[in-house]
Amino acid sequence: GAGISTESGIPDFRSPGGVWSQNRTVYFDEFLESAAARNEYWRQKALMHREFAAAEPNIGHCTLAGWEQRGLIRGVITQNIDGLHQLAGNERVWELHGTAREVECLDCHWRDRVDAYVDDYFRHKAAPACPQCGGRLKHATISFGQALPADVLQQAWDCAAEADLMLAIGSSLVVTPAADLPRVAVAHGAKLVVLNRDATPLDSAARFRLSGSCGETLARIDAAMGPK
Ligand code: NAD
Ligand code: ZN
Repeated sequence: GAGISTESGIPDFRSPGGVWSQNRTVYFDEFLESAAARNEYWRQKALMHREFAAAEPNIGHCTLAGWEQRGLIRGVITQNIDGLHQLAGNERVWELHGTAREVECLDCHWRDRVDAYVDDYFRHKAAPACPQCGGRLKHATISFGQALPADVLQQAWDCAAEADLMLAIGSSLVVTPAADLPRVAVAHGAKLVVLNRDATPLDSAARFRLSGSCGETLARIDAAMGPK
């Protein structure tokens, strides 16, 4: 969850004063129907992009990348849209809410890296159009009111059902369906470890409940596992 990226300088969803709390929500149906809503969406996303683009993976992301490379974890299921797990070196990342590092055309499904379109927004102060079809270009993230990618969700669900251990890291575990995945894992016999600063609704279902910082705690677990 967002908590693993706060130590990279990206505020989580509930931080007071963060970009998320200052902006009005642009719902998916508004985005589809209104040019004004698309301009407002791009204004918010273009400003947010500056935070994302400068952020770097922290010791928490790097520890998980090391565990995947050593075959200790199957991969990472995330609600984060910042792409930091991949930058750290994780190859198997299921992004339930998509990625803010790319744009997608809602009309022809053409995709590209986001950077040039953010520049375009700042030049023209208007939502950029798809270079292929002139259609509605949006960050490749899931907006409020937009369906999650069914294939990614199914793969994450299967991973949860097959897991013998699930670590729920830096998530308030209140945003579904991601928050359902630890429940799926436990229902299929997995041990659950919750690592989060604040309490979560799944704490009582967890074998271990850790409340330190994500980065430091993961690094300590890694160190305690001994030589690589
Ligand atoms: P959340 O904001 O609901 O919860 C984050 C949790 O992390 C909080 O309970 C907080 O106590 C904990 N936390 C924060 N920093 C921590 C740290 N350093 N160590 C330990 N715990 C820490 O996050 P969520 O459950 O992932 O839901 C957020 C929603 O907003 C998702 O839909 C996500 O797509 C989006 N979002 C994404 C990003 C990102 O990509 N980095 C950032 C903000 C929000
Ligand atoms: Zn298009």
